[in-house]
Amino acid sequence: MREPGFGTRCVHHGDDHGSHFGAPSPPIYQTATFVATDAALLGRREHASPPGYDYTRVDNPTTHAFESHVAALEGAEAARSFASGMGAIAAVVLHACGAGDHVVCVDTVYGPTRAFLKDYAARFGVDTTFVDGRDPADFAKATRAETRLYFLESPSTRVFHLQELAAVAQIARDRGILTAIDNSWASPYFQNPHEHGIDLVIHSATKYIGGHSDVLAGVVTGDARRIRRLQLQEGVLLGGVLDPFAAWLLLRGLRTLAVRMERHQSSALHLARALERHPRVHRVLHPGLPSHPQHALGQRQMRGYGGLFSVVLEDTEREQALTVANALRYFGVAFSWGGYESLCVPVEFPEYGGRWGLRLHVGLEDPEDLLADLEDALRA
Ligand SMILES: *Cc1c(COP(=O)(O)O)cnc(C)c1O
Repeated sequence: MREPGFGTRCVHHGDDHGSHFGAPSPPIYQTATFVATDAALLGRREHASPPGYDYTRVDNPTTHAFESHVAALEGAEAARSFASGMGAIAAVVLHACGAGDHVVCVDTVYGPTRAFLKDYAARFGVDTTFVDGRDPADFAKATRAETRLYFLESPSTRVFHLQELAAVAQIARDRGILTAIDNSWASPYFQNPHEHGIDLVIHSATKYIGGHSDVLAGVVTGDARRIRRLQLQEGVLLGGVLDPFAAWLLLRGLRTLAVRMERHQSSALHLARALERHPRVHRVLHPGLPSHPQHALGQRQMRGYGGLFSVVLEDTEREQALTVANALRYFGVAFSWGGYESLCVPVEFPEYGGRWGLRLHVGLEDPEDLLADLEDALRA
């Protein structure tokens, strides 16, 4: 039989029509605990037959269904969910490192990830070196005897730098170092880093996996042994676990992931190409444009492109970037991205002569409406 494609797996993974009276959407197990029918089973139901649950901080049927779905889409053995993307990122760093250990991280990483490594983890004796990372040798050069973790984010989400995943994974493997990547931008639909040898894949599920700007969540995929440790240590002991209702919303989001990503991709590329020709635009930073310096690498290791990119404006100061942002009708000025609606944030680009511009998330609206909106705002 034909192996089901990605879209089919989004829709049908975990189908269990024999249970729940045939409801295609599974119930939400909104419960903190699970009563045992026999005291001897308490705390051991995971190993019982059929397996059961004890306490939602450890595991819950609804969060488990979400985790199993994401693991399948990333091609991983297992997944563990957290209450937010940062919960997942912090868990991975604490899983990999203890006092005296060292991390190599890309310098364009998500701001709070950088702050966690630089300021917070440092308090517990974990030191981090930030590297450019566009050359895999940057990782080898920064490695010390105490290096335990390479932290990647490819593409990054302001200037959209890429790392060569297979090459960095090989450097890490040769030295016994763990690799983790923030894969939120591409989503599992466009990039599966485990295929390139990366050990742990992290998503801010708040973004594309949820897709509706109505839930905060994070998830990590990897081999069953590591994910089990993330569950029993960083999950159970730190307690930043996913709520069953949030997991149910995420399951709903996953069913439409493939179609949403296609639309985000095509609309964002349409806008990026048009903006690249606009006289007020200095540069468009989008890995899908041939003008992106790492376009060829992106084509090799991704199957497509997310809907988030940046526009560096010509001769623009902060005030003018704010004026453009405020003139937009359909792009809400807000942090976050990955939902159905278009959003933007004004951004400074020190690497482009201190120019200002906008980071745009292209939502599911009609692309021609979004383009007209941007053209009008750029006239403002
Ligand atoms: C939003 C975001 C995060 C953090 O996710 P939360 O769910 O907000 O904690 C991590 N990485 C990237 C690239 C993000 O955009």
